[in-house]
Amino acid sequence: MSRLTRPDLDALPDYVPGRNVPGAIKLASNEVPYGPLPGVVEAITEAAAGVHRYPDMGVVALRAALAERCGVEPDRIATGCGSVALAEHLARVTCMPGDEIVYSWRSFEAYPIIAATAATTSVRVPNTAEHAHDLPAMAAAITDKTRLVLVCNPNNPTGTAIRRPELERFLDAVPEDVLVVLDEAYREFVTDPEVPDGLAVAGDRPNVVVLRTLSKAWGLAGLRIGFLVASPAVAAAVRKVATPFSTSSAAQAAALAALGQSEEMQRRADLVVAERERLLPALRKLLPDVPESQSNFVWLPLGDRALAFAGACERAGVIVRPFAGDGVRVTVGTPEENDTFLAAAEAALS
Ligand code: PMP
Repeated sequence: MSRLTRPDLDALPDYVPGRNVPGAIKLASNEVPYGPLPGVVEAITEAAAGVHRYPDMGVVALRAALAERCGVEPDRIATGCGSVALAEHLARVTCMPGDEIVYSWRSFEAYPIIAATAATTSVRVPNTAEHAHDLPAMAAAITDKTRLVLVCNPNNPTGTAIRRPELERFLDAVPEDVLVVLDEAYREFVTDPEVPDGLAVAGDRPNVVVLRTLSKAWGLAGLRIGFLVASPAVAAAVRKVATPFSTSSAAQAAALAALGQSEEMQRRADLVVAERERLLPALRKLLPDVPESQSNFVWLPLGDRALAFAGACERAGVIVRPFAGDGVRVTVGTPEENDTFLAAAEAALS
């Protein structure tokens, strides 16, 4: 039978979203549980009156606000329909078919999909026994065909983070013509002072891009908005290949309103962090190998027990995110939600 779609897509894994089960507590998608930041709903409502017009394609006001927050010029900023779209664009602007993209594994599940749709080869470097990036091995995996390296810091789904000297050594080892993406979707939850802000480490290195999102700590997952900070040339290339108008007017307005609430954002992120620090020792009593987390989720390396554990949690009314044969990622929720999860975990594991 003739086919209309590329045969290689058959082997592509599906992106599995955290499930929404009515009435259940959802701890599956690393969202923050406190609702939109103050002023966000009003900004979206105001933007709604103008939705018969296209949004500002240059995203001028928002890029200026993001640039100010990041301490860079607006020409170094690009926004996109979630940071996942920007990661796709980065593959598009760096790679030709047959090139290689290096990333650690396990890491963000979109990376293999992005690599495959760009017709590139995924070079997966196994995490260390501590569930962290093995940066020396990643540097060693770079070949003449490597165009892009994806570094997830903190890492989704394991929560582990890379510290400054290690990251700097790695960046020094990467050839100048290979682009390194520091995917910092969870930056606002980092509390270890040794885990550097990618913007500070990137400095003036033209081959380093910092990728951030407004989906997590900023509470805008439903509006799909992410941004990157890159050299002016790389940022311009990304804006060129992006789907026109993909940062919607509602997203632009909401993001501007959210950015005006950075203190409240950080206060909420700190509440999540306090809960993370409560959960980790409680979970380690059940499963000693639970790694550190610098993000808003924790990783339970349950191996073959991952699916059964997720099923037990679901029966107790809590949706978590299993990765079959490997582990379970659990988003930190409100104190009450976490208590319900902990009770389910204790019942399942002790
Ligand atoms: N990077 C990482 C590491 C993530 O975990 C996620 C979301 N799960 C993203 C990027 C994408 O987020 P978004 O597209 O919502 O900005």
